[in-house]
Amino acid sequence: MKLFISADIEGTTGIAHWNETEKNHPDWKYFADQMTREVAAACEGAMAAGCEDILIKDAHDSARNLNPRALPECARLLRGWTGAPASMMAGLDESFDGVVFTGYHSAASWNTNPLSHTMNTGNCFVTINGEKASELMINALTAAYYGVPVLCVTGDKGLCDYMKKVNPNVETVPVNEGWGNGVISIHPDLAIRRIREAVQRAVENADKDKCMFPLPEHFVVEICYKLHQRAHSCSYYPGVTQIDERTVRFECDDYMDVLKYFKFILSE
Ligand SMILES: [Zn+2]
Repeated sequence: MKLFISADIEGTTGIAHWNETEKNHPDWKYFADQMTREVAAACEGAMAAGCEDILIKDAHDSARNLNPRALPECARLLRGWTGAPASMMAGLDESFDGVVFTGYHSAASWNTNPLSHTMNTGNCFVTINGEKASELMINALTAAYYGVPVLCVTGDKGLCDYMKKVNPNVETVPVNEGWGNGVISIHPDLAIRRIREAVQRAVENADKDKCMFPLPEHFVVEICYKLHQRAHSCSYYPGVTQIDERTVRFECDDYMDVLKYFKFILSE
């Protein structure tokens, strides 16, 4: 059993403000610690179910948030950004048996987390085949591209509700509920316990067919930028058409082409 964990921070228990996500801000350390505890809990759950090989992608901002010393010895940690199109999923390939997402958050424009965004804060929303796309959706499609199932998602309730709607077989652990610019969270220790238990269940019951995220055969991707200048600039990417002042459209059949497109026009 080989597990991949992609770890973000904007769905970490209790987080409610951008200051708490920024490495050089004094508010960051508590949430980076809680992020680490949640990843460690996911590892412990997986290990309790017999998993002995884990690759963790630190996938927030600097990609240098997790404390390596607090993670188990069977886990390897990918820090920093490789530059590969898989981005928050760099390191994943066909050899993995499952993916777990921790600390994930609602998509740009969703009202279920004050920190809702998709890849950066420069867009109003990203859609894939007409649906508002979260980072979870983008990265679950990457997992499906490599034939790897999604086993468990932890983060805000809006995102967990979305995951359950797409596939009720995927374990979820909602830790925060967004309310306008505020957040109601469960106790940080309860979150740890629930994450450990959910990942253990998910790995014990891992079923490739039941937990595979649906991968479409054709992709229509639209990005609505906050600034018209960015839409203009991105309209020069090969294959892109600008459909209004702030929106660009890209179409293709191969999901890797979507990831390459995102790498160049959605990653900064
Ligand atoms: Zn993040």
